Amino acid sequence: MIREFTYKGEIFRTNYHGAPGHEEVFIMHMIDGEEFGEMSIDRMTEENDTDAPIEQICIDLCEKLIPEREIQVADPSAGFQWRDVKPAYQVHDGKQETTMKEKTGLPCTVTGIYLAHHDRQHKQPHEVKMVKGHKFPICNQCEDGGPSYELVKEDPNLIR
Ligand SMILES: [Zn+2]
Repeated sequence: MIREFTYKGEIFRTNYHGAPGHEEVFIMHMIDGEEFGEMSIDRMTEENDTDAPIEQICIDLCEKLIPEREIQVADPSAGFQWRDVKPAYQVHDGKQETTMKEKTGLPCTVTGIYLAHHDRQHKQPHEVKMVKGHKFPICNQCEDGGPSYELVKEDPNLIR
């Protein structure tokens, strides 16, 4: 699951998956929509409070990332807050489809930033910039013709 939140006035994106309390959690510091520093924890194998909510884990990761990257936070007194993010995919009749998945090998129909989901956890989900008409790249480590691609942000002006 990908969500964004603010902490100390800075914007972060988190990507977490797995059973509650045992998730693998990534956070990324966002500046002008670009990902900068990244910090992660695997709650299955690394020491942490498995009763803590995901919000607390995000805060803990921020508290490691901020000094490591020497981030000059915008508002040191501001707490944690989830951010409302535009739906990942929006069609023009007003209906929203947030779980749209595109398959490898098919041509891209919407230019933008996608998240590639690989099989068997051999690679973490990662962002891919795709231009309409280009085919979604294959991965020779994925079975069943993966990865699958999830549209994160439509961006018609994106140029490779
Ligand atoms: Zn793969």
